[in-house]
Amino acid sequence: MSDGAPRTAVRRSVVTRVLWSYAFVVLAFSLVAGWSALGLRQAAEEAALMRTGYYPLALVVRDLAAKQDIYNSQLNHITAARNPADLRVWFDFALRIGRPKMFGQVRSAIGRAFLASGERNARVLGESLLADVSAIERFFSGDAERLSRLFDAIERRDEASAERLRDELVTRGSQGSSSLSRLQDRVDEEIDRLLDQARGREYLAIRLLIGLFAISLLSGLAMALYARRVLRPLGAVTERAKAVAEGDLEPRPPIVSGDEIGELSTTFEGMVSAIARANEQLVANERLATVGKMAAHVTHEIRNPLSSIALNLELLEDDLEGSSAEARTQLRAIGSEVERLNLLSQQYLAFARQKSSNLAEEDLADLVRESAEFVRRELAKTDVVLEVHTDDALGPVAIDEGQIKQVLFNLLRNARDAMPQGGTVRVWVRAVDAEAEIVIEDEGPGLGADARARLFEPFFTTKQHGTGLGLAITRQIVEAHGGRIEFSDREPHGARVSLRLPRPAASDRPPASSTELRGEEPSGSGAPQVATAGSNRS
Ligand code: ADP
Repeated sequence: MSDGAPRTAVRRSVVTRVLWSYAFVVLAFSLVAGWSALGLRQAAEEAALMRTGYYPLALVVRDLAAKQDIYNSQLNHITAARNPADLRVWFDFALRIGRPKMFGQVRSAIGRAFLASGERNARVLGESLLADVSAIERFFSGDAERLSRLFDAIERRDEASAERLRDELVTRGSQGSSSLSRLQDRVDEEIDRLLDQARGREYLAIRLLIGLFAISLLSGLAMALYARRVLRPLGAVTERAKAVAEGDLEPRPPIVSGDEIGELSTTFEGMVSAIARANEQLVANERLATVGKMAAHVTHEIRNPLSSIALNLELLEDDLEGSSAEARTQLRAIGSEVERLNLLSQQYLAFARQKSSNLAEEDLADLVRESAEFVRRELAKTDVVLEVHTDDALGPVAIDEGQIKQVLFNLLRNARDAMPQGGTVRVWVRAVDAEAEIVIEDEGPGLGADARARLFEPFFTTKQHGTGLGLAITRQIVEAHGGRIEFSDREPHGARVSLRLPRPAASDRPPASSTELRGEEPSGSGAPQVATAGSNRS
C-alpha cells in the first residue's frame, strides 16, 4: 500500500532564498562601492580641470590686466619721455607681439577650462567668455595706429596733437583695463561658482555614501535576520527529532514553510506515523502470537476428544440403527457440529502454525481452473454460478500450490457467503506487466465500512459461524509469496478482490504476447474505497 505523508511542493527553496538575500546584500554593497568609485573619479577630474583649466585661465587674465596697467602708466608719461624712440620700440612690441600672444593664451585657457568640458553649461559659459575676450581685443585693435600717429606728432614736436592723441589713448587704455578687470572678475566668479558646485557635489557624495553605507548595513542586518527566520523551522524539526528519539510518536502537524524544511518536516512526520504504525503492528502481532499459541494449545487439546466423540458417534449410529427418526436426526446434528468444530480447530492450527511457503514454478491458470472445479459443486448448492476466464499466455508463476489453493478456496467461499440468494462469481487470471493477477468479483452487497477497515484482522468476522481467520491466513500466504491483495467495492454492488503475485523476470519466461483473456475484462476497481494488504512493492 502506498501510504505515507503527503508530499508538499517546494515553492521557494532555502538555497534560493539565501542566494537572493546574498544577492541583495551584494547589490547594496556594489552600489556603495560603485558610487564611491564614481565620486572619486569625478573629484579627480575636477581637480585636473582646476589645475589645467581654471587656474591657468585666472592667472593669464590677471597677467593681461597687469600688463594693461603697465601699458596705461607708460602712456601717461609718453609725451614727457626723454627717449621717445626707445619707448616706440617697447610699445610696438607690446601691441604687435605681447598683447596678441596674451589674448591667445586667454583663448586657449578658456578652451581647456570650458569648451572641452562635457557639461553643456560650462561650454555655453566658455563661449560667452570668448565673445567678451574678442570684444576687448577688437576694442584694442585701433591702438597701434593711434600710437604710431602719437609718436609721429612727438617727433614733429606737435605737442597739441601729441597731447590730444595721448589723452585719447589713456582714456581708451583705462576703458580697456576696466573691461579686462570685468573679465577677470567674471572668470574669478565662475571659478568660485564651479568650486562651490564641486564642494556641493562632494557634500552630496559624502551624504549619499553615508546613506548607502547605512542602507547596506541595514540590508545586511535584515538579510541575516531573514536567513535566521528561514532556518528557524530547522530548529523545530531538530527538537521534534529529539522528542521522537525519546519515544514521542504522537502525530503532530508538519511545519508549513513552502521550502525543503517544510518538505523535510512533512516527510519526517510521515516517517513518525509509519514508525507508530509499525510499533502498533508489532504489539498486535505479539499479542496475536500469544493468542495463537494459546489457541493452538487449546485446539490441540480438544482435537483428540473430538476424534473420539466422532468415532463414538459413528458407533452410536450403528447401535441405534432402526431407532426413532428423531434420535437419528439429533445424532446427525451432533455429528455436523462435531465436524464444524473439527474444521474450526484445523483453521486455528493452520493460522497458528503457518508453514513457510515452498515455492515452485507452476501454471497458475491451470491451478485456478482446478480450484474452481473443486468448489463449483459446493457453490452450486446455494445457486452460485462460477465463471472462470484464463490467460493462456500467462506462463509459470512461482507459488506454493497448496497455499494458493487455500487462498482461492477462502476467497471463493467468501464470495459465495456474500450471495446467500445465489448469483455469479467471475474469476480472471492474467498477466499484468511483471505480475500475475487473479481477480474475483461477486454480486453480493460489497464490503461495509467496518469490514473494509478490519478485513485482514484475525478473528474479525460478520458471519454467525465465521472464524475470522480466512483473510488473515490469505494475507499471510500472499505476503509470503511477495504479492499483495486488494479489496474494493463494485458498482452498483458487489466486491472485487485483486490478488497480484510476482512473475519471473521477462527474460526468464516464455514470450507472453498479450494479456488476452478468455471472456470479458474484469470491471476494474470501480469504487475508490479499497482495502489492501501485502508486500509494499511501489
Ligand atoms: P470469515 O469468512 O470466517 O468471516 P474471513 O477472514 O474470510 O473470515 O472474512 C472476514 C470478513 O470479511 C467476513 O466476515 C466478511 O464480513 C468480510 N468479507 C470477506 N469477503 C467478502 C465478500 N466477498 N463480500 C463481502 N464481505 C466479505
